[in-house]
Amino acid sequence: MSIRAEHLTHLYSPGTAFESYALKDISFEIADGSFVAVIGHTGSGKSTLIQHLNGLYRPTSGTVYYNGEDIFAEGYDLKALRTKIGLVFQYPEYQLFEEDVITDVMFGPKNMGLSDDEARARAKKALMQVGIGESLYKRSPFDLSGGQKRRVAIAGVLAMDPEVLILDEPTAGLDPRGREETLAMLEELHSERKITVILVSHSMDDVAECADMLMVLKDAELKFFDRPKEVFRHVEELESYGLAVPEITYLAHDLIKAGLDIDPTVSTVSEAKAELLKLLKW
Ligand code: ADP
Ligand code: MG
Repeated sequence: MSIRAEHLTHLYSPGTAFESYALKDISFEIADGSFVAVIGHTGSGKSTLIQHLNGLYRPTSGTVYYNGEDIFAEGYDLKALRTKIGLVFQYPEYQLFEEDVITDVMFGPKNMGLSDDEARARAKKALMQVGIGESLYKRSPFDLSGGQKRRVAIAGVLAMDPEVLILDEPTAGLDPRGREETLAMLEELHSERKITVILVSHSMDDVAECADMLMVLKDAELKFFDRPKEVFRHVEELESYGLAVPEITYLAHDLIKAGLDIDPTVSTVSEAKAELLKLLKW
């Protein structure tokens, strides 16, 4: 069970003066149940890439396999795929449209042909998991706060009970607290539902703690696909792509320069703490 991209290439406006590559010969395999972060500067191809994974965009060449099946092969059921691979677009709150919260979240499951009762049960579970309580069910989505709207939109995708949840910059525009809460919620979803999560972000600090694999895109090319720690070794290369390593990794490097014997791949606060405690015992 996995998502496998093979030589995925996407050319926008082919044959015109505006022809440009958004993806160039990208291959990778995402194992079932993993938490993958897709990182890259604006315009690197992140949104284009993820929209190939549930078949919204067709590749110019190359293809995507889901559980061993070519999703762009003739006769493949893309509609069914889109319920298994749920995609939360950037600023998903703009896509809320029903008169109240519960009806909005029930839309996806109803559209899949589930009964009212089943759809409601799915919606309730999803809303609970994103931290939206019953007192908000009958409210208009438009009356909610920005953070609440986004949670409702995520619940709408979750209610389809996807095997894979893809989110395009779910923390964009949120304040630091909203970002932290959203990331904590995603980690919880990942462990509770045992689903694969693919999180698009442009902040290393956002993903260092939660992702077990990191995909780095630069100008339509896949530069790294590895464990975060391995990727963070390449500080200069990442900086040349307009990316930074986590703040805590910079701090570790400063301490090394000051003469301390610390692991240069430290990338979370708890790892840094463990390293410092180890030193203090001397
Ligand atoms: P990211 O999500 O990393 O910011 P995108 O996938 O949106 O990157 O864009 C990758 C490249 O493709 C950029 O150069 C962007 O300008 C271009 N692009 C994106 N969408 C379109 C489109 N619909 N038509 C033409 N070019 C596009
Ligand atoms: Mg994007």
